[in-house]
Amino acid sequence: MDQSANGPLSMVIEEDWSEIREAVERICMQYPNDYWNELDAASEYPTAFVNALTEAGYLAVLIPEEFGGTGLPISAAGAVLETIHAAGCNAAACHAQMYTMGTVLRHGSEAQKQRYLPKIATGELRLQAFGVTEPTTGTDTTQLKTRAVRDGNQYVVNGQKVWTSRALQSDLMLLLARTTPADEVKKRSDGISVFLVDLREAVGNGLEIRKLDAAINHNTTEVFMDDLKIPPESLIGEEGKGFKYILDGMNAERILISYESLGDAKYFIRRATEYANERVVFGAPIGKNQGVQFPLARAYAEMQAAELMIHKAAALFEGGQHCGAEANMAKLLASEAAWHAAEACMQTFGGFAFAREYGIERKWRETRLYQTAPISTNMILAYIGQHVLGMPRSY
Ligand SMILES: Cc1cc2nc3c(=O)[nH]c(=O)nc-3n(C[C@H](O)[C@H](O)[C@H](O)COP(=O)(O)OP(=O)(O)OC[C@H]3O[C@@H](n4cnc5c(N)ncnc54)[C@H](O)[C@@H]3O)c2cc1C
Repeated sequence: MDQSANGPLSMVIEEDWSEIREAVERICMQYPNDYWNELDAASEYPTAFVNALTEAGYLAVLIPEEFGGTGLPISAAGAVLETIHAAGCNAAACHAQMYTMGTVLRHGSEAQKQRYLPKIATGELRLQAFGVTEPTTGTDTTQLKTRAVRDGNQYVVNGQKVWTSRALQSDLMLLLARTTPADEVKKRSDGISVFLVDLREAVGNGLEIRKLDAAINHNTTEVFMDDLKIPPESLIGEEGKGFKYILDGMNAERILISYESLGDAKYFIRRATEYANERVVFGAPIGKNQGVQFPLARAYAEMQAAELMIHKAAALFEGGQHCGAEANMAKLLASEAAWHAAEACMQTFGGFAFAREYGIERKWRETRLYQTAPISTNMILAYIGQHVLGMPRSY
């Protein structure tokens, strides 16, 4: 079983990083629902919010001190993201920096780390874009079609990415491309490489970014590469090992996204409970009705259970132990707990849930994403079925 090699585990069950949570909450209070609604309507990036978080150092919590960050564990980064979401804000505009940076940190050369990480820590450079998904291959990442071919002292890249979020707001993009054709490798995950593409140089020189019209304000795009030429120093780690590098970062990504869903669940339960106690219909607060009360009580129980699994996954991750199963389960449980809380909240607010000024419908749309991206629920269930329970692979 996946976790058989793990040793004893100690984990924080109560809320941790209270100073960080309080400070992040103070920042969030300056960006109320109106701010997010206006951006949502105009499909614009929350620049002021991201700048405030960057200046306060909260996007650099996972960057080691030697590269200008605070070098804190994943639970601290999680506390930042959870607090943002629990306050009704959205960290999706900047969360990718926390986990894409990890690929450079773990697999980049010393020169790449020195060149990029300190500037990412100060916000001088934004690494918010992560180009993995492609229109024709979707979840089947090893079949991606984007090709990077070494030609003298450069790589020439051709292909297309879809749903590459924040590419228009990012200076750098982590790009996954095939460097050895699929029919020339032993394992389908071999022959794929990771590149750090400088978008400031690439845009207009073989790379084009087109905004996607999505149901949520996620600043997501399509990226087209047509004979894009990038220097060999863009390659992260060894050529052909990129899929493994990306997999290495996935546990961190899943745990961090779980914290966002946890924050969402807390937001919905808080808003719904307050409303259920205040709103009087038929001469009594609506929360007196079990039809209103019980879905919220159930959502609360689910949220608490998800929180425990998140803490377990984070503790294993921080202890350098296997956490694939827990990171996946945390993401599954938290995204579903958030969705159930969102549904209960929508129902509690009745017609007013649809009034944009309440912020509920925006958060409801936003929280739905996490059952699909960055990995869909089915793929998590497949992981548990195969890697934890030892059943056959279906694909
Ligand atoms: C708002 C948004 C932002 C995103 N941001 C990024 C980003 O920044 N970078 C990036 O690279 N990607 C990003 N994505 C892409 C996201 O990761 C993918 O949408 C997701 O991984 C699913 O891929 P797909 O859409 O191609 O679905 P498909 O692979 O076509 O799958 C469709 C459905 O079929 C199911 N399915 C497929 N195969 C199986 C199987 N073998 N067993 C069971 N079920 C299966 C899937 O679970 C899914 O429910 C984003 C997506 C959205 C919507």
